[in-house]
This record gives sequence, C-alpha cells and structure tokens, in this order.
Amino acid sequence: MRVLLLGGTSEARELAARLVADGVDVTSSLAGRVARPRLPVGPVRIGGFGGVAGLRDALAEFDAVVDATHPFALGMSANAAAACALEDLPLLRLERPGWPDPEGRWHWVDDHDAAASLAAELGRRPFVTVGRQELGRFVPALGEHAVLARVVDPPTLELPLGWRLVTSRGPYRLDSEVDLFREHRADVLVTKDSGGTYTWPKLEAASQLGVPVVVVRRPPGPAGVRTVHAVEDALAWLRLRGV
Ligand code: NAP
Repeated sequence: MRVLLLGGTSEARELAARLVADGVDVTSSLAGRVARPRLPVGPVRIGGFGGVAGLRDALAEFDAVVDATHPFALGMSANAAAACALEDLPLLRLERPGWPDPEGRWHWVDDHDAAASLAAELGRRPFVTVGRQELGRFVPALGEHAVLARVVDPPTLELPLGWRLVTSRGPYRLDSEVDLFREHRADVLVTKDSGGTYTWPKLEAASQLGVPVVVVRRPPGPAGVRTVHAVEDALAWLRLRGV
C-alpha cells in the first residue's frame, strides 16, 4: 500500500512520522512555497503536480491519498478531490479543527477583503497575520494604516511606506506575542481561522490586552470527501485500508 500525503502542515508531518515508524510506504508532498520548509521524515517530493491532469498521472504510483494541507489551501484540496474521484482512489481529508472563540467576541468575516475593511474601521495599527499570499488584499483598505505584517517569507509586492514587515515562523509564545503587540501598539489583530497550536498565542495575547480580533472564516472544502480532524483518526482510516 503506497500512500501519498499532501502536506505543508504540522499534522502532515506528525502523520508522516507515525507512518514511517510503522514501516508504511508514504511519500509526503510539499508545494515548495517557503524558502526553508520544515521537512517531514521519510520520502518527500516538492513542487506542484501540474493541476488535476498532472496529479492524475502522479497517482499511478499510489494506492491512497491523505490530503493534510492547510485549511486555506483550497486549490490543492479541490485538485485532490477531482483527481482521486477520476482515478477511483481512496482519499481522506485530515483537517485540524478551527479555533474556538473563548469569549465570543471575535469578529468573523467571510473573506480577506471583508477582514481588511473591518480592520480599517476597528483600528489604526493593525497586526496582520494572514500569510504572504493574501497581503496584497489588505493594501487598498489599510494602505494609510500603520500595519505590522508578519509572514514566513517576504512577499514580492511592494508594501506601503507606513507598514512594517516581520518575518518569522511559529510556534510562538504568549510572552513574546504580548511584547510584540505592545511594541507595535497594535490595536486590532487580523488572522484567518488556521487552527492549531503554533500561532494560537497571538489570540491569547489579544485577549489579555483587550485588542479586537478579526477572523477570516474557513472556506468550505470540496464536497463529499471523508474528513477527520486528528492524526489518530487518519491512521485508523489507513489501517482499515490495509496500511
Ligand atoms: P493552494 O492554493 O491550495 O495550491 C495552489 C497550487 O500549489 C496547487 O494547485 C498545487 O499546484 C500546489 N500545491 C499546493 N499544495 C501542494 C502540496 N502539498 N504538494 C504539491 N503541490 C501543492 O495552496 P496554498 O494555499 O498556496 O498552500 C501551499 C502549501 O502551503 C500547501 O501545501 C499548504 O498545506 C501549505 N500552507 C498553506 C497555508 C495557507 O495559509 N494557505 C498556510 C500554511 C501552510 P499544482 O496545481 O501544480 O499541482
């Protein structure tokens, strides 16, 4: 049984480690977006497949697919659903749970444009943590604001003069997140509902400091794909298939 594991997340790395330890033939796939990716253990391939057609070709080498990509990596999930259906290959979606809103005070929005407009109303010094690929959508509404933008790798677009860019990668700690909010005098936090523990401390920091939070809701994934939310459940699904 050969497993293709679509990754780029901590859960994918955890699943790869468990499968490799069990002697399973698993290949992890990364998009190659970040300059220095955290590599999972075991065989890894890097780079896009070339759409649904390319992925279908690649699937000839595999018997099952686990899509453990990020909740906002919609393109890859859609391609996996289409290609696996066409190739009649079992597909499981492993998606980490969304974040709970402990005090029921977050401002939920449906997309990044709405997040930008709302952040512009709520503050003058937004802390924007939506990833490099989405930053451009915040420029029209927040071009005149004193934005602190945090990304893993610098974006290619030119940022407004009043913006400050920090490059770093989680996991983060509550004390250093509080320091960063204070240092920037951030008065609104913008994030997407990525879930997971690595970047959760920024939400705790916002809560401690009474800073409002704007959260972009997860877009719906492809319909009809069996989905689990924990690595253990993905392992159970694979075991049922003889892995
Ligand atoms: P996306 O928009 O869904 O994917 C765009 C294209 O990138 C896909 O069609 C595919 O190209 C390629 N691709 C994406 N994930 C791939 C993978 N695991 N292996 C091989 N090719 C992949 O994805 P994205 O939002 O840019 O995310 C890229 C990667 O970063 C994902 O693996 C995701 O798990 C990870 N990530 C994303 C975010 C986020 O906020 N979006 C955050 C953290 C990590 P082809 O069509 O050529 O096959």
